[in-house]
Amino acid sequence: MPSNDHYVIIGNGPAGNHAASVLRNKDKDAKITIISDECTPYYYKPKLTGFIQGKISARELMVNGPDDYTNGYYKNIRIRLGQTIERIDPDFNAVFLNHMEKIQYTGLIIASGGQARVLPSMIPYAEHLSFIASYSDVMDIKDRIDKAEEFFIFGGDLVGFKFLRMLNAMGKKTSVLIYPNAFWPYNLTDDMLEKIIKSLSGLTSDIIVKDDIKKIEKNESGFRVFTQKGVVKTTDLIFSFNGMAPNIDFAVGCGLDTDHGILVDEYLKTNIDNIYACGSCAQVYNPSIKSYCVSIGWPNAMVQGEVCALNLLGEKKVVESVGRKYFDLEGVRIKTTWWDDINDDSLRM
Ligand SMILES: Cc1cc2nc3c(=O)[nH]c(=O)nc-3n(C[C@H](O)[C@H](O)[C@H](O)COP(=O)(O)OP(=O)(O)OC[C@H]3O[C@@H](n4cnc5c(N)ncnc54)[C@H](O)[C@@H]3O)c2cc1C
Repeated sequence: MPSNDHYVIIGNGPAGNHAASVLRNKDKDAKITIISDECTPYYYKPKLTGFIQGKISARELMVNGPDDYTNGYYKNIRIRLGQTIERIDPDFNAVFLNHMEKIQYTGLIIASGGQARVLPSMIPYAEHLSFIASYSDVMDIKDRIDKAEEFFIFGGDLVGFKFLRMLNAMGKKTSVLIYPNAFWPYNLTDDMLEKIIKSLSGLTSDIIVKDDIKKIEKNESGFRVFTQKGVVKTTDLIFSFNGMAPNIDFAVGCGLDTDHGILVDEYLKTNIDNIYACGSCAQVYNPSIKSYCVSIGWPNAMVQGEVCALNLLGEKKVVESVGRKYFDLEGVRIKTTWWDDINDDSLRM
């Protein structure tokens, strides 16, 4: 008998798309809808720096084009782009878009990823800061990056250092202020900072540590950044790279348990039976350490999307087979998950 199920997935990144392909593979008849507030088809965020540099085209950035949803793994999956989920109503198994359209589901997967984290001390200066967290961020700033000559980067997470390398390859002048907790929720020790400074020294001679931004002034041509220790930098653009914060505002207050992210058990199930969460928006419980953690990175999001879909369909798979355990942050090994080698993991949250 054909399935009457409607699986709704919030998010068109790797977690959402891998969840959708598993659902389609296992249930040929169910209605599956992916909803995303971005207007761009599924694209590969790790290639955004290559796109800014002009090394790859917009088409090469895309993982799936609209045609991919008519065949194969993604067959008959409906993609609704440019539509923002405003809230979830678990009592009525419904999500509401910001134009108040109501969409009914039998199973819901939240894969809403993360947004650039703005440090509380930077909120007064937020309008002066630029971020690279999405395709639309890039489209907003790409021309100005091409024209600008001097850049000030503060924070210094994986994306920040990748961006710094890109600017260096473009022949731009850079200053970097590194925060030890930029790679939130992890904290860098002095030894790690030393390694990172050594690794970056070939890219910029202007690395500031153990200091903080005191104020930012806008002038006609750009900005002046003043640090607590009296350093003053003149720059065309200021970029903040201080990790990602789970994108969960629309889910808060609807009855779902949340903290930094959406709290899920080791099967990626929330406290509500037919709602699961995966990828950078989920804070996953590990029974062996009795704690929750948000994992990062594209491969982890893919694996979690798959596990999430299988469990929504009735399996009981623990999310332990992670896609990628470590990242290399300029020569420092950072663990992105916490499922094994627990005692060896000095960076655990
Ligand atoms: C510039 C850059 C470079 C990166 N480089 C690497 C790398 O080299 N290696 C690596 O492993 N990782 C890298 N990452 C991180 C990687 O891209 C993320 O870990 C991954 O995309 C997370 O996947 P996700 O599916 O959980 O969320 P995302 O990919 O963030 O997708 C979330 C989706 O949810 C949608 N959404 C959010 N809120 C709503 C709402 N209210 N309504 C509707 N839709 C909503 C968003 O529009 C988006 O489609 C990079 C990230 C960036 C920004």
